[in-house]
Amino acid sequence: MLDLETLHFSSAISRGAYLALFLVLALRQREETYLWHWIGAIMASLLGSLILAGAPLNSVLPTWQSIQVFALYMASITLSWCGLRHFYGRTNNLPVLFALTLFPSLLCSLLPGLGFSAHTMLIIYFLFAAAASTLVVIEIAFARREHLWSQLVVAVAFTGYAASFFLAAAMLQFTPLQVSPQTAYVSMIFDQINSVLVYVGYVAMSGERANLRLRHQADTDALTGLFNRRGIQHALLKLDSKHPGSTTCVLLGDLDHFKKINDTLGHDGGDAVLKIFAKRLKNLMRRDDIAVRWGGEEFLVVLPHTTIDEAGAFAERLRKHIESEPFVISSQAINVTISIGIAEIEQPQETFDKAVGRADQALYQAKHAGRNRISR
Ligand code: GH3
Ligand code: MG
Ligand code: MG
Repeated sequence: MLDLETLHFSSAISRGAYLALFLVLALRQREETYLWHWIGAIMASLLGSLILAGAPLNSVLPTWQSIQVFALYMASITLSWCGLRHFYGRTNNLPVLFALTLFPSLLCSLLPGLGFSAHTMLIIYFLFAAAASTLVVIEIAFARREHLWSQLVVAVAFTGYAASFFLAAAMLQFTPLQVSPQTAYVSMIFDQINSVLVYVGYVAMSGERANLRLRHQADTDALTGLFNRRGIQHALLKLDSKHPGSTTCVLLGDLDHFKKINDTLGHDGGDAVLKIFAKRLKNLMRRDDIAVRWGGEEFLVVLPHTTIDEAGAFAERLRKHIESEPFVISSQAINVTISIGIAEIEQPQETFDKAVGRADQALYQAKHAGRNRISR
């Protein structure tokens, strides 16, 4: 079996390794403030581990040294929590932060003078540590929209920390249990496992998010925020599994005389028109509809679970909405119109590209017939 000395040594060594890894990551991405918080968390727990490693074995730490270690471990958990808040784009909650880091140490410094024992001090420390660990779990629970699987690993680890701190406080209060080399041994093993989950989890979270963001960027048109041609292929795969066998329509719209708009407003003004158009289009769409910037001033909308008549009604609403409200660019009101071609993806299993080809022919007819109209 491992002895306590080996566990202390490996705890300090592994934290040193995490520190090196996080420093490399943070220096490479200096703007990611959460990494610096997590470095602080590792440093605080590393210092705590070093103090424990330097203490004589088979003895309980003197009170003031215990307070130091507790304060460092509390700082580590709260810095972890602050890092997570930054990771999710939230700011530090200063009152809670100070209450969690300073209050237990202050209390524990005063307690011996008031006649309270080191035992009571430990219980208080464990309760604060449990509360701080719970805060981390709550932070992650509120960030489920991020859809990061790796954050679950961190949440599990902190749930483990919270449960073990509560359990330790309860056992110290309600059972004859005392802190001993045996309890230290169990908690060291537990911490070794959990700290791996936390720090590897953090690295995985930032990697997973970076990966998802890159994929999103590759699938998205930067100007309008709509899908690009690459993105629609991925979106269609998801759509097939959501609406198997239902009627789907495609709508291809092209802004009329856009060259003139560019000539009047300049290229930036033209860009602004495209952005406003995309916004208005999105406002009209249902949740499952998919909009794509198909080309320069050409837009494709996929309307799942929609008949050709319903697609025609949607196209007419869009056409009217664009025609009736002038686009205001740099205080200049510009009238914009759109021509639209629609087509139904014919069952069974006509390819998407073929249906888009027919919508394109319909669009050509709409242009040919005088623009600002719909054809099918
Ligand atoms: P039509 O009614 O026949 O569609 O006429 P049009 O002028 O809209 O069509 P055309 O295809 O001849 O010209 C499209 C113009 O759109 C030409 C191109 O410079 C401009 N364009 C393409 N992409 C962008 C873009 O990202 N920003 C801006 N501002 N203009 C763009
Ligand atoms: Mg055009
Ligand atoms: Mg065009």
